[in-house]
Amino acid sequence: MSAIFARPSDLESTSCMAILDTLSNTLNRLWNDMVDKKMYVTGGIGAIKQWEVFGVEYFLPQSTDEGGCYAETCASISVMMLAERLLHLDLQGRYGDIMELCLYNNVMTAMSLDGKEFTYVNQLAGSNTDKSVRHSWFWCACCPPNLARLYSSLGGYLWDYGSHDQQAFINVHLYTTAKLAFEVNGESIALEQKSEWLWEGDVAFEVSAPDSLETTIRLRLPAWTQYEFELTPPPHPGCIQLCDGYLSLTHPYVAAHPSFALRVKNFGPQHIAMHPHTNQNTSTLARGPIIYYAEDIEQPLGDGSFQGCHH
Ligand SMILES: [Zn+2]
Repeated sequence: MSAIFARPSDLESTSCMAILDTLSNTLNRLWNDMVDKKMYVTGGIGAIKQWEVFGVEYFLPQSTDEGGCYAETCASISVMMLAERLLHLDLQGRYGDIMELCLYNNVMTAMSLDGKEFTYVNQLAGSNTDKSVRHSWFWCACCPPNLARLYSSLGGYLWDYGSHDQQAFINVHLYTTAKLAFEVNGESIALEQKSEWLWEGDVAFEVSAPDSLETTIRLRLPAWTQYEFELTPPPHPGCIQLCDGYLSLTHPYVAAHPSFALRVKNFGPQHIAMHPHTNQNTSTLARGPIIYYAEDIEQPLGDGSFQGCHH
């Protein structure tokens, strides 16, 4: 369903601003309803397996034997697609936060490290009737090729960029080690980021942009950082702005510092409580963008399950 919603958000390039406004409002309302009331802590959606649909608000059972938790890999990929498009329409960190949550907790987990086995359902708890295991293929094999498509286009999710007159911008949505290069009026702009993201919150940047352009770089600060950060070299007052979860480095800062580094704070373990309306007696631990969970060691799930594995 979120794949269908991703289409109206492609209308950015049309001149039908009134239609775009209406669709944006509708998308925003649906997005908020999905994220606030129908999404698992891992970014999985689709609680009801039989029909691959949402349940009523806060119906978020942990596993098949509790009556739900489909959280299909494809569904989270679609959420990422929608988030990426919404970031084009309206640069808000909350879209990037969910994109990152889905990527690391309901999408990357869906493929084994050797790339040979996949999950389709991403329930939060296994059971003897429906173990949490990866399979080499499926009768209806939508998820493995969808993962291949996502991985091959991952660079498009990391950042977007553009220019207008003599101004250029780069919006960095995800942190990793990667390099972006593009041209504006025949001149090259490049931005490289290096980090051990996932495990630590330091990101080093190298930027090269021509003097003839005013270049702005915007960096997403995930909400779990509580928007606390350190920028090195430190900026002069007025050279940076924090707006809707993105830290804007204005042209004077970018021009003066071809090398700079971001350190996000509050990367350490954080406890996430379940919403009381879910009626779930579980506790979740997060560190940075990763959600951790553990199953009771006494649960006899047998070979092949995630129990005791590297999940
Ligand atoms: Zn699928």
